[in-house]
Amino acid sequence: MIHAPAFCCDDRDPDALPADVALQRILTAISPIADTETETLPLLQVLDRILSVNISATMNVPAHNNSAMDGYAVNAGDLPADGIRELRVIGSSFAGHPFSGACLRGECIRIMTGAMLPKGLDTVIPQEHVEVLDESSIRLDSRTRPGDNVRHAGEDIHQGQIVLKRGRRIRAADLGLLASLGLTEVSVIRRLRVAFFSTGDELRSIGQTLQEGEIYDSNRYTLHAMLLHQHCLITDMGVVRDDPHALRSALQTAAIDHDIIITSGGVSVGAADYVRQVLSELGNINFWKIASKPGRPLTFGKIGNAWFFGLPGNPVAVMVSFFQLLIPALQHLAAETPTQPLTLMATTTSALKKKAGRTEYQRGILSQAEDGSLIVSKTGNQGSGILLSMSLANCFIILPDADTHIAAGDKVMVQAFNGWM
Ligand code: AMP
Ligand code: MG
Repeated sequence: MIHAPAFCCDDRDPDALPADVALQRILTAISPIADTETETLPLLQVLDRILSVNISATMNVPAHNNSAMDGYAVNAGDLPADGIRELRVIGSSFAGHPFSGACLRGECIRIMTGAMLPKGLDTVIPQEHVEVLDESSIRLDSRTRPGDNVRHAGEDIHQGQIVLKRGRRIRAADLGLLASLGLTEVSVIRRLRVAFFSTGDELRSIGQTLQEGEIYDSNRYTLHAMLLHQHCLITDMGVVRDDPHALRSALQTAAIDHDIIITSGGVSVGAADYVRQVLSELGNINFWKIASKPGRPLTFGKIGNAWFFGLPGNPVAVMVSFFQLLIPALQHLAAETPTQPLTLMATTTSALKKKAGRTEYQRGILSQAEDGSLIVSKTGNQGSGILLSMSLANCFIILPDADTHIAAGDKVMVQAFNGWM
Protein backbone atom coordinates (compact mmCIF):
# COMPACT_ATOMS: atom_id res chain seq x y z
CA MET A 1 0.00 0.00 0.00
CA ILE A 2 1.27 3.47 -0.85
CA HIS A 3 0.49 6.22 1.61
CA ALA A 4 0.42 9.91 0.83
CA PRO A 5 3.52 11.59 2.30
CA ALA A 6 2.87 13.42 5.54
CA PHE A 7 3.51 17.15 5.53
CA CYS A 8 4.04 19.72 8.26
CA CYS A 9 0.40 20.17 9.33
CA ASP A 10 -0.62 16.58 8.90
CA ASP A 11 -0.25 13.72 11.33
CA ARG A 12 -1.94 10.91 9.46
CA ASP A 13 -0.58 7.50 10.45
CA PRO A 14 -1.99 4.48 8.63
CA ASP A 15 -1.35 2.22 11.66
CA ALA A 16 -3.22 4.44 14.11
CA LEU A 17 -6.92 3.75 14.80
CA PRO A 18 -9.27 6.75 14.90
CA ALA A 19 -10.13 7.46 18.56
CA ASP A 20 -13.81 6.47 18.23
CA VAL A 21 -12.90 3.22 16.45
CA ALA A 22 -10.43 2.35 19.22
CA LEU A 23 -13.13 2.83 21.86
CA GLN A 24 -15.56 0.65 19.88
CA ARG A 25 -12.90 -2.07 19.56
CA ILE A 26 -12.47 -2.04 23.36
CA LEU A 27 -16.20 -2.17 24.07
CA THR A 28 -16.71 -4.96 21.54
CA ALA A 29 -13.86 -7.06 22.93
CA ILE A 30 -14.89 -6.76 26.59
CA SER A 31 -18.00 -8.56 27.91
CA PRO A 32 -19.55 -7.40 31.18
CA ILE A 33 -18.82 -9.56 34.21
CA ALA A 34 -21.31 -12.32 34.93
CA ASP A 35 -24.71 -11.71 36.57
CA THR A 36 -23.69 -14.07 39.32
CA GLU A 37 -20.73 -12.03 40.52
CA THR A 38 -22.70 -10.10 43.09
CA GLU A 39 -22.76 -9.51 46.82
CA THR A 40 -25.57 -8.51 49.16
CA LEU A 41 -24.63 -5.68 51.50
CA PRO A 42 -26.27 -3.57 54.21
CA LEU A 43 -27.77 -0.36 52.84
CA LEU A 44 -25.07 1.88 54.28
CA GLN A 45 -22.36 -0.02 52.39
CA VAL A 46 -23.78 0.29 48.88
CA LEU A 47 -23.12 3.96 48.10
CA ASP A 48 -21.30 4.17 44.72
CA ARG A 49 -21.81 0.46 44.06
CA ILE A 50 -23.66 -0.89 41.02
CA LEU A 51 -27.10 -2.45 41.45
CA SER A 52 -27.26 -6.04 40.20
CA VAL A 53 -31.09 -6.19 40.12
CA ASN A 54 -34.01 -3.92 39.33
CA ILE A 55 -35.52 -2.51 42.51
CA SER A 56 -39.32 -2.40 42.47
CA ALA A 57 -41.40 -0.82 45.19
CA THR A 58 -43.13 -3.20 47.60
CA MET A 59 -45.28 -0.36 48.95
CA ASN A 60 -46.59 3.10 48.18
CA VAL A 61 -44.45 6.08 49.18
CA PRO A 62 -45.94 7.94 50.94
CA ALA A 63 -47.98 5.12 52.36
CA HIS A 64 -51.01 7.35 53.22
CA ASN A 65 -52.57 10.59 52.07
CA ASN A 66 -51.00 13.27 54.27
CA SER A 67 -50.85 17.00 54.72
CA ALA A 68 -48.34 19.21 52.89
CA MET A 69 -48.98 22.14 55.28
CA ASP A 70 -49.73 22.99 58.89
CA GLY A 71 -53.43 23.90 58.92
CA TYR A 72 -56.89 22.34 58.95
CA ALA A 73 -58.07 19.22 57.11
CA VAL A 74 -61.57 19.61 55.71
CA ASN A 75 -64.04 17.93 53.37
CA ALA A 76 -63.99 19.73 50.00
CA GLY A 77 -67.80 19.84 50.18
CA ASP A 78 -67.47 22.26 53.13
CA LEU A 79 -65.41 24.83 51.20
CA PRO A 80 -67.47 28.00 50.62
CA ALA A 81 -67.88 28.88 46.92
CA ASP A 82 -67.70 32.51 48.04
CA GLY A 83 -67.94 34.38 51.33
CA ILE A 84 -67.02 32.91 54.70
CA ARG A 85 -67.92 29.62 56.40
CA GLU A 86 -67.52 28.44 59.95
CA LEU A 87 -66.40 24.85 60.80
CA ARG A 88 -66.14 22.95 64.06
CA VAL A 89 -62.66 21.66 65.03
CA ILE A 90 -63.13 18.20 66.59
CA GLY A 91 -59.57 16.92 66.95
CA SER A 92 -56.06 16.94 65.60
CA SER A 93 -53.64 14.80 63.55
CA PHE A 94 -49.88 15.05 64.11
CA ALA A 95 -47.15 13.32 62.08
CA GLY A 96 -46.93 9.88 63.65
CA HIS A 97 -50.11 10.44 65.71
CA PRO A 98 -53.12 10.13 63.38
CA PHE A 99 -56.64 11.25 64.31
CA SER A 100 -58.65 8.15 65.10
CA GLY A 101 -62.24 9.47 64.98
CA ALA A 102 -64.56 10.22 62.08
CA CYS A 103 -65.45 13.68 60.78
CA LEU A 104 -69.00 14.65 59.81
CA ARG A 105 -69.90 17.45 57.40
CA GLY A 106 -69.27 20.84 58.95
CA GLU A 107 -66.41 19.41 61.02
CA CYS A 108 -62.66 19.60 60.53
CA ILE A 109 -59.43 18.76 62.35
CA ARG A 110 -56.23 20.61 63.07
CA ILE A 111 -53.41 18.92 61.02
CA MET A 112 -49.61 19.20 60.85
CA THR A 113 -47.30 18.69 57.87
CA GLY A 114 -46.77 14.97 57.20
CA ALA A 115 -49.72 13.92 59.38
CA MET A 116 -52.17 11.37 57.99
CA LEU A 117 -55.43 12.68 56.53
CA PRO A 118 -58.43 11.03 58.22
CA LYS A 119 -60.97 9.19 56.06
CA GLY A 120 -63.44 11.54 54.39
CA LEU A 121 -61.14 14.60 54.46
CA ASP A 122 -59.43 15.58 51.24
CA THR A 123 -58.31 19.21 51.46
CA VAL A 124 -55.96 21.15 53.76
CA ILE A 125 -56.39 24.86 54.49
CA PRO A 126 -53.10 26.52 55.47
CA GLN A 127 -53.37 27.97 58.97
CA GLU A 128 -52.48 31.45 57.64
CA HIS A 129 -55.76 31.39 55.66
CA VAL A 130 -57.93 30.63 58.64
CA GLU A 131 -59.41 32.85 61.34
CA VAL A 132 -59.33 30.98 64.66
CA LEU A 133 -62.43 31.89 66.66
CA ASP A 134 -61.73 29.64 69.65
CA GLU A 135 -60.36 26.13 70.33
CA SER A 136 -63.23 24.43 68.57
CA SER A 137 -64.16 26.73 65.71
CA ILE A 138 -62.53 28.38 62.73
CA ARG A 139 -63.62 30.57 59.88
CA LEU A 140 -62.42 30.05 56.32
CA ASP A 141 -62.84 31.91 53.06
CA SER A 142 -63.02 30.67 49.46
CA ARG A 143 -59.27 30.81 48.62
CA THR A 144 -58.58 27.08 48.96
CA ARG A 145 -59.50 24.73 46.09
CA PRO A 146 -60.70 21.14 46.60
CA GLY A 147 -57.72 18.78 47.04
CA ASP A 148 -55.21 21.55 47.83
CA ASN A 149 -52.17 20.86 50.04
CA VAL A 150 -52.59 17.10 50.17
CA ARG A 151 -49.81 14.63 49.34
CA HIS A 152 -51.40 11.49 47.97
CA ALA A 153 -50.46 7.92 48.81
CA GLY A 154 -48.05 6.61 46.15
CA GLU A 155 -47.40 10.03 44.59
CA ASP A 156 -43.61 9.66 45.07
CA ILE A 157 -43.47 5.93 44.29
CA HIS A 158 -46.35 3.59 43.60
CA GLN A 159 -46.32 -0.04 44.61
CA GLY A 160 -44.83 -2.28 41.89
CA GLN A 161 -43.00 0.55 40.11
CA ILE A 162 -39.32 -0.04 39.17
CA VAL A 163 -37.52 2.76 40.96
CA LEU A 164 -33.90 1.88 40.21
CA LYS A 165 -32.60 -0.24 37.36
CA ARG A 166 -29.89 -2.86 37.30
CA GLY A 167 -26.57 -1.25 36.32
CA ARG A 168 -27.30 1.94 38.23
CA ARG A 169 -24.40 3.41 40.24
CA ILE A 170 -26.02 4.14 43.59
CA ARG A 171 -25.98 7.82 44.58
CA ALA A 172 -27.11 9.73 47.67
CA ALA A 173 -30.73 10.18 46.52
CA ASP A 174 -30.88 6.46 45.63
CA LEU A 175 -29.77 5.48 49.11
CA GLY A 176 -32.65 7.59 50.45
CA LEU A 177 -35.08 5.98 47.97
CA LEU A 178 -34.00 2.50 49.03
CA ALA A 179 -34.43 3.46 52.70
CA SER A 180 -37.89 4.92 51.99
CA LEU A 181 -38.90 1.45 50.75
CA GLY A 182 -37.61 -0.02 53.99
CA LEU A 183 -34.83 -2.06 52.35
CA THR A 184 -32.11 -3.10 54.77
CA GLU A 185 -29.78 -4.75 52.23
CA VAL A 186 -29.16 -4.55 48.52
CA SER A 187 -27.54 -6.83 45.92
CA VAL A 188 -24.69 -5.15 44.03
CA ILE A 189 -22.13 -6.23 41.45
CA ARG A 190 -18.70 -7.02 42.86
CA ARG A 191 -16.06 -4.34 42.49
CA LEU A 192 -13.52 -4.60 39.67
CA ARG A 193 -9.99 -5.58 40.65
CA VAL A 194 -7.39 -3.46 38.91
CA ALA A 195 -3.59 -3.82 39.11
CA PHE A 196 -1.32 -1.06 37.89
CA PHE A 197 2.36 -0.25 37.71
CA SER A 198 4.72 2.24 36.14
CA THR A 199 7.58 1.27 33.87
CA GLY A 200 10.84 3.15 33.44
CA ASP A 201 14.42 3.02 34.70
CA GLU A 202 14.30 6.77 35.37
CA LEU A 203 11.41 6.50 37.86
CA ARG A 204 11.71 6.77 41.63
CA SER A 205 8.88 6.67 44.13
CA ILE A 206 8.23 9.53 46.52
CA GLY A 207 10.39 9.25 49.64
CA GLN A 208 13.43 8.12 47.62
CA THR A 209 16.33 10.41 46.67
CA LEU A 210 16.67 11.28 43.01
CA GLN A 211 19.98 10.54 41.26
CA GLU A 212 21.00 12.41 38.13
CA GLY A 213 18.56 11.81 35.28
CA GLU A 214 15.86 10.39 37.52
CA ILE A 215 12.33 11.71 38.06
CA TYR A 216 9.55 10.98 40.50
CA ASP A 217 6.83 8.63 39.33
CA SER A 218 3.62 10.67 39.14
CA ASN A 219 1.49 8.35 36.98
CA ARG A 220 0.87 5.87 39.77
CA TYR A 221 -0.63 8.63 41.86
CA THR A 222 -2.96 9.98 39.19
CA LEU A 223 -3.99 6.40 38.35
CA HIS A 224 -4.54 5.64 42.03
CA ALA A 225 -6.86 8.67 42.31
CA MET A 226 -8.75 8.06 39.07
CA LEU A 227 -9.30 4.38 39.89
CA LEU A 228 -10.63 5.28 43.32
CA HIS A 229 -13.03 7.74 41.67
CA GLN A 230 -14.27 4.74 39.68
CA HIS A 231 -14.61 2.72 42.93
CA CYS A 232 -12.25 -0.08 41.85
CA LEU A 233 -10.30 -2.36 44.19
CA ILE A 234 -6.72 -1.46 43.37
CA THR A 235 -3.33 -3.14 43.59
CA ASP A 236 -0.42 -0.71 43.22
CA MET A 237 2.53 -2.79 41.98
CA GLY A 238 5.06 0.03 42.09
CA VAL A 239 7.72 0.71 39.46
CA VAL A 240 8.97 -1.99 37.10
CA ARG A 241 12.31 -1.61 35.31
CA ASP A 242 12.68 -1.36 31.53
CA ASP A 243 13.61 -5.01 31.34
CA PRO A 244 11.65 -7.70 29.51
CA HIS A 245 12.16 -10.26 32.32
CA ALA A 246 10.93 -7.90 35.02
CA LEU A 247 7.98 -6.88 32.86
CA ARG A 248 7.05 -10.46 32.08
CA SER A 249 7.08 -11.43 35.71
CA ALA A 250 5.05 -8.38 36.80
CA LEU A 251 2.43 -8.93 34.10
CA GLN A 252 2.12 -12.65 34.90
CA THR A 253 1.57 -11.85 38.58
CA ALA A 254 -0.95 -9.12 37.81
CA ALA A 255 -2.92 -11.35 35.43
CA ILE A 256 -3.64 -13.94 38.13
CA ASP A 257 -6.45 -12.26 40.03
CA HIS A 258 -7.23 -8.95 38.39
CA ASP A 259 -9.86 -7.96 35.85
CA ILE A 260 -7.71 -5.20 34.40
CA ILE A 261 -4.00 -4.42 34.28
CA ILE A 262 -2.88 -0.86 33.57
CA THR A 263 0.72 0.09 32.95
CA SER A 264 2.25 3.40 31.95
CA GLY A 265 5.34 3.96 29.81
CA GLY A 266 7.32 1.73 27.50
CA VAL A 267 4.66 1.35 24.79
CA SER A 268 6.31 3.53 22.17
CA VAL A 269 8.96 2.49 19.64
CA GLY A 270 12.06 3.46 21.67
CA ALA A 271 14.91 1.00 22.32
CA ALA A 272 13.75 0.55 25.96
CA ASP A 273 10.05 0.10 25.15
CA TYR A 274 9.31 -3.59 25.80
CA VAL A 275 5.67 -3.63 26.82
CA ARG A 276 4.23 -4.52 23.44
CA GLN A 277 6.80 -7.26 22.85
CA VAL A 278 6.15 -8.87 26.23
CA LEU A 279 2.37 -8.61 25.79
CA SER A 280 2.58 -10.42 22.45
CA GLU A 281 4.47 -13.26 24.18
CA LEU A 282 2.13 -13.57 27.16
CA GLY A 283 -1.22 -12.76 25.61
CA ASN A 284 -2.55 -10.97 22.57
CA ILE A 285 -2.63 -7.45 21.22
CA ASN A 286 -5.86 -5.94 19.89
CA PHE A 287 -4.33 -2.59 18.83
CA TRP A 288 -1.39 -0.44 19.80
CA LYS A 289 -1.78 2.98 18.25
CA ILE A 290 -4.53 5.62 18.25
CA ALA A 291 -4.76 8.72 16.08
CA SER A 292 -4.97 11.04 19.08
CA LYS A 293 -2.89 13.51 21.02
CA PRO A 294 -2.06 12.94 23.75
CA GLY A 295 -2.24 9.17 23.94
CA ARG A 296 -1.07 7.89 20.57
CA PRO A 297 0.92 4.82 21.60
CA LEU A 298 -1.61 2.83 23.60
CA THR A 299 -1.61 -0.94 23.68
CA PHE A 300 -4.85 -2.78 24.31
CA GLY A 301 -4.96 -6.55 24.67
CA LYS A 302 -5.46 -9.45 27.03
CA ILE A 303 -3.31 -11.64 29.26
CA GLY A 304 -5.15 -14.72 30.53
CA ASN A 305 -8.46 -13.38 31.88
CA ALA A 306 -7.18 -9.85 32.46
CA TRP A 307 -7.68 -7.00 30.05
CA PHE A 308 -4.49 -5.08 29.46
CA PHE A 309 -4.11 -1.34 28.88
CA GLY A 310 -0.55 -0.17 28.23
CA LEU A 311 -0.80 3.59 28.51
CA PRO A 312 1.91 5.95 27.30
CA GLY A 313 4.38 7.31 29.88
CA ASN A 314 3.64 10.98 29.52
CA PRO A 315 1.63 12.11 32.54
CA VAL A 316 -1.05 14.01 30.59
CA ALA A 317 -1.41 11.12 28.13
CA VAL A 318 -2.12 8.77 31.05
CA MET A 319 -4.96 10.94 32.29
CA VAL A 320 -6.45 11.61 28.85
CA SER A 321 -6.37 7.92 27.89
CA PHE A 322 -7.89 6.95 31.23
CA PHE A 323 -10.76 9.41 30.79
CA GLN A 324 -11.46 8.68 27.14
CA LEU A 325 -10.98 4.91 27.05
CA LEU A 326 -10.58 3.34 30.47
CA ILE A 327 -13.64 4.85 32.14
CA PRO A 328 -15.99 3.56 29.40
CA ALA A 329 -14.16 0.20 29.54
CA LEU A 330 -14.47 -0.03 33.35
CA GLN A 331 -18.16 0.90 33.23
CA HIS A 332 -18.80 -1.66 30.51
CA LEU A 333 -16.91 -4.45 32.28
CA ALA A 334 -18.65 -3.69 35.58
CA ALA A 335 -22.09 -3.93 33.86
CA GLU A 336 -22.72 -0.30 34.76
CA THR A 337 -25.20 1.70 32.71
CA PRO A 338 -22.81 4.01 30.86
CA THR A 339 -22.74 7.65 31.88
CA GLN A 340 -21.49 10.12 29.29
CA PRO A 341 -19.46 13.12 30.43
CA LEU A 342 -21.30 16.39 29.85
CA THR A 343 -20.37 17.63 26.35
CA LEU A 344 -21.08 21.25 25.44
CA MET A 345 -20.23 23.83 22.80
CA ALA A 346 -18.30 26.88 24.03
CA THR A 347 -16.56 29.86 22.46
CA THR A 348 -12.79 29.59 22.72
CA THR A 349 -11.00 32.70 23.95
CA SER A 350 -7.65 31.19 22.88
CA ALA A 351 -6.50 30.50 19.32
CA LEU A 352 -5.78 26.75 19.10
CA LYS A 353 -3.40 24.90 16.82
CA LYS A 354 -3.34 21.24 15.92
CA LYS A 355 -2.36 18.86 13.17
CA ALA A 356 -4.86 17.22 10.85
CA GLY A 357 -5.34 13.47 11.05
CA ARG A 358 -5.70 13.08 14.81
CA THR A 359 -8.18 13.93 17.55
CA GLU A 360 -6.70 16.30 20.11
CA TYR A 361 -7.75 16.60 23.72
CA GLN A 362 -6.50 20.01 24.78
CA ARG A 363 -7.00 21.09 28.38
CA GLY A 364 -9.36 23.97 29.04
CA ILE A 365 -11.01 26.08 31.68
CA LEU A 366 -14.72 26.31 31.03
CA SER A 367 -16.59 29.24 32.55
CA GLN A 368 -19.48 31.61 31.91
CA ALA A 369 -19.07 35.04 30.34
CA GLU A 370 -20.96 38.00 31.82
CA ASP A 371 -23.81 37.46 29.35
CA GLY A 372 -24.15 33.87 30.58
CA SER A 373 -22.65 32.22 27.47
CA LEU A 374 -20.04 29.47 27.82
CA ILE A 375 -16.41 30.33 27.14
CA VAL A 376 -13.29 28.19 27.32
CA SER A 377 -9.60 29.07 27.46
CA LYS A 378 -6.66 26.71 27.15
CA THR A 379 -4.43 26.04 30.16
CA GLY A 380 -1.09 27.21 28.76
CA ASN A 381 1.49 24.85 27.28
CA GLN A 382 -0.24 21.74 25.93
CA GLY A 383 2.75 19.37 25.92
CA SER A 384 1.88 15.77 26.85
CA GLY A 385 4.25 15.92 29.81
CA ILE A 386 2.91 19.16 31.30
CA LEU A 387 0.79 17.88 34.18
CA LEU A 388 0.04 21.43 35.33
CA SER A 389 -2.09 21.81 32.17
CA MET A 390 -4.34 19.05 33.60
CA SER A 391 -4.25 20.36 37.13
CA LEU A 392 -5.49 23.79 36.00
CA ALA A 393 -8.18 22.39 33.70
CA ASN A 394 -11.82 21.55 34.34
CA CYS A 395 -12.56 20.21 30.84
CA PHE A 396 -11.13 18.84 27.63
CA ILE A 397 -11.40 20.85 24.43
CA ILE A 398 -11.97 18.12 21.84
CA LEU A 399 -10.64 19.03 18.42
CA PRO A 400 -11.70 16.58 15.69
CA ASP A 401 -9.35 14.90 13.18
CA ALA A 402 -9.78 17.32 10.30
CA ASP A 403 -9.32 20.62 12.18
CA THR A 404 -6.01 22.49 12.03
CA HIS A 405 -6.40 26.11 13.10
CA ILE A 406 -9.10 27.34 15.43
CA ALA A 407 -9.35 31.11 15.87
CA ALA A 408 -10.27 32.86 19.12
CA GLY A 409 -14.05 33.39 18.94
CA ASP A 410 -14.73 30.04 17.22
CA LYS A 411 -17.05 27.48 18.78
CA VAL A 412 -15.40 24.30 20.08
CA MET A 413 -16.63 21.14 21.75
CA VAL A 414 -15.77 20.76 25.41
CA GLN A 415 -16.17 17.80 27.73
CA ALA A 416 -16.52 18.47 31.47
CA PHE A 417 -14.38 16.35 33.81
CA ASN A 418 -17.55 15.17 35.58
CA GLY A 419 -15.80 14.77 38.92
CA TRP A 420 -13.84 11.84 37.45
CA MET A 421 -10.41 13.49 37.66
P1 AMP B 1 7.78 6.43 27.75
O1 AMP B 1 6.39 6.27 27.24
O2 AMP B 1 8.20 5.34 28.66
O3 AMP B 1 8.74 6.67 26.62
O4 AMP B 1 7.77 7.76 28.62
C1 AMP B 1 7.44 9.00 28.03
C2 AMP B 1 7.80 10.12 28.98
O5 AMP B 1 7.01 10.04 30.15
C3 AMP B 1 9.23 10.11 29.45
O6 AMP B 1 9.68 11.44 29.54
C4 AMP B 1 9.14 9.49 30.81
O7 AMP B 1 10.22 9.86 31.66
C5 AMP B 1 7.83 10.00 31.31
N1 AMP B 1 7.25 9.09 32.26
C6 AMP B 1 7.08 7.76 32.07
N2 AMP B 1 6.52 7.19 33.12
C7 AMP B 1 6.30 8.16 34.02
C8 AMP B 1 5.76 8.21 35.34
N3 AMP B 1 5.29 7.09 35.91
N4 AMP B 1 5.70 9.39 35.98
C9 AMP B 1 6.17 10.50 35.37
N5 AMP B 1 6.68 10.54 34.15
C10 AMP B 1 6.77 9.39 33.47
MG1 MG C 1 9.98 4.70 29.44
